[in-house]
Amino acid sequence: MDRRLGRGNSSRTKERWTAMTVMVELTEVRKLYNGGSPQAALDGVSLTIQQGEFTAVMGPSGSGKSTLLNLIAGLDRPSQGRVLVEGVDVGRLSETELARFRRARIGFIFQFFNLLNNLTVLDNILIPAQLAAVNSGVALDRATALMNELGLAEKQKLFPGRLSGGERQRVAIARALINRPLLLLADEPIGALDSRAGDQVMERLTELNLRGQTILLVTHDAKLAAAYASRVITLSDGRVADDSRLKASPEVAPSDILQLRPGETAP
Ligand code: ADP
Repeated sequence: MDRRLGRGNSSRTKERWTAMTVMVELTEVRKLYNGGSPQAALDGVSLTIQQGEFTAVMGPSGSGKSTLLNLIAGLDRPSQGRVLVEGVDVGRLSETELARFRRARIGFIFQFFNLLNNLTVLDNILIPAQLAAVNSGVALDRATALMNELGLAEKQKLFPGRLSGGERQRVAIARALINRPLLLLADEPIGALDSRAGDQVMERLTELNLRGQTILLVTHDAKLAAAYASRVITLSDGRVADDSRLKASPEVAPSDILQLRPGETAP
């Protein structure tokens, strides 16, 4: 991916963008677990995800969704095949490099939020920036912008125990975005929320996607996938059983994506 590309409107330029904005590329990926079932958790998966896509990964329990997410996040390595994220071969990184890769490039949100209950909202959001040694003033500015955007400004001094589920997940989204990852991974992000809070969280994710954030959502909920994702990949027994584009991804050029980070407004 060439981040130096300027802005432009010609269709030729757009074609060049399209060709140069592959975010994730899996080639013939297999994953076998030692001591697990003899069947591969992923069994020859090849797919690409473009920058700006909002992709849902669906499939029954045990079909390989979490394994796929973990491989893309650099939490695990493929047994065979190759996983490239922004051109980086994740399977070839050392443990230290993997940790750095995750901090800088991947944002994660989970079903049960995984917030630290003894830290305030603000301090939870700041953790990844501190781990990545981001300047504390810069980190505070980013956290403030994210809290404003996600409707959390009034809650910043509270502890997670005082928040609703929807608010906790919005804190988790802010935490996931503080290091400005180009890829946001969401594993059943509204599975623990009531439908209203769930809708609000999905609306927030949609807004982020419309501003260029690439999102990979794991869900077992077909309605959710159809309502929000631009593409649905269905796994079955570790293979891609279906891969459908539902609607166009937002027309955002890479230069816009890189400029329009959370908390910033369009020029
Ligand atoms: P899903 O997220 O779709 O429920 P998973 O990716 O968790 O599916 O699991 C796919 C397959 O891999 C399942 O058969 C599961 O039992 C197996 N599996 C997943 N993780 C492990 C592990 N750490 N050790 C052994 N087997 C595993």
